[in-house]
Amino acid sequence: MNIHEYQGKQILKQYGVKVPEGKVAFTVDEAVEAAKELGTAVVVVKAQIHAGGRGKAGGVKVAKNLDEVRTYAQEILGKVLVTHQTGPEGKEVKRLLIEQGCDIKKEYYVGVVVDRATGRVVMMASEEGGTEIEEVAERSPEKIIKEVIDPVTGLTAFQARKLAYAINIPNELVNKAVKFMMSLYQAFVDKDCSIAEINPLVVTGDGEVMALDAKLNFDSNALFRHPDIQELRDLDEEDEKEIEASKYDLSYIALDGNIGCMVNGAGLAMATMDIVKFYGGDPANFLDVGGGATEEKVTEAFKIILKDPKVKGIFVNIFGGIMKCDVIANGVVAAAKQVKLDRPLVVRLEGTNVDLGKKILNESGLNIVAAESMADGAEKIVALVK
Ligand code: ADP
Ligand code: MG
Repeated sequence: MNIHEYQGKQILKQYGVKVPEGKVAFTVDEAVEAAKELGTAVVVVKAQIHAGGRGKAGGVKVAKNLDEVRTYAQEILGKVLVTHQTGPEGKEVKRLLIEQGCDIKKEYYVGVVVDRATGRVVMMASEEGGTEIEEVAERSPEKIIKEVIDPVTGLTAFQARKLAYAINIPNELVNKAVKFMMSLYQAFVDKDCSIAEINPLVVTGDGEVMALDAKLNFDSNALFRHPDIQELRDLDEEDEKEIEASKYDLSYIALDGNIGCMVNGAGLAMATMDIVKFYGGDPANFLDVGGGATEEKVTEAFKIILKDPKVKGIFVNIFGGIMKCDVIANGVVAAAKQVKLDRPLVVRLEGTNVDLGKKILNESGLNIVAAESMADGAEKIVALVK
């Protein structure tokens, strides 16, 4: 789960990470009021969306007086920001962070992630802050320094010092940078984050080490023990279809293509997307209905797939292992009737009671194209949507 920058900063502040003073605003008047309360000579008006790259897209503006705050707030609120992380459709700005302007001397990068290769938490740091870290990784990977963290000791002061020196934090500020990193790591662990990224971390004119941006992602499997984090969820930022899917415990992720895929099991779902691609098609979604999909679940899954206007056809690829194919076939038929399916449907069934399942589909009177294999089904649906 993602949260907004201002929410992330509030959490980090509780752990002793220095952040600029700031206030959230939902309207232009609130923005001006917030700037007045902050009372600093310069304030920054920042779009709050669940994506980075806002600066380059015009979503971060420095205002030197209240009139400018009003102008920028008017300009940014309601604007659809397109950044390299939003996709081409962009994201509408509904909240602003009004924040103290900061006298930046230099920008750095610090990020905490879970590294799958080592199975450990890793802290990464770079002297090249402010820019996209992916770009730095590609152009000059040697500029990203990593420390693998032992879960027993946690991030040690020694490791943090090593990082601070490696990225050339000025000597007199190394201790502050160490405290910053240790606090960031503690927040990451306590809140079950999957990512905690500060880009940029800055050194200021008056010798402070601060987080000017904050991106926190949380492991959804651990959210049950963080009701305070759950409260920060902003449904406006999430795909409506994904929200609906989560209600029925379906794993659904919207994609850009036009072939809706309904599959049981994450592995088979991945393989199905691959084979659709192989035959020249584009999946509209990843969808795993799970091992024990009921008729109701299958129906809901159909509805969610069809809510996407991009979908021109559906490929059902089910392996009846724990589930029986006849049960699935009944679910598919009921769902297709209930949602008045108006687009081509290709079904590939395999496994327990497969013959009975096929018979049910054939006798349903629905326009269902039966597939003999996964490859056959993929080829057929790709041909049908073209
Ligand atoms: P994004 O990563 O989405 O572009 P950031 O929060 O990193 O957004 O802001 C982009 C840039 O704007 C920063 O790299 C920094 O140079 C500047 N900036 C952000 N917040 C402030 C602030 N409070 N004071 C001064 N400059 C800021
Ligand atoms: Mg940033």
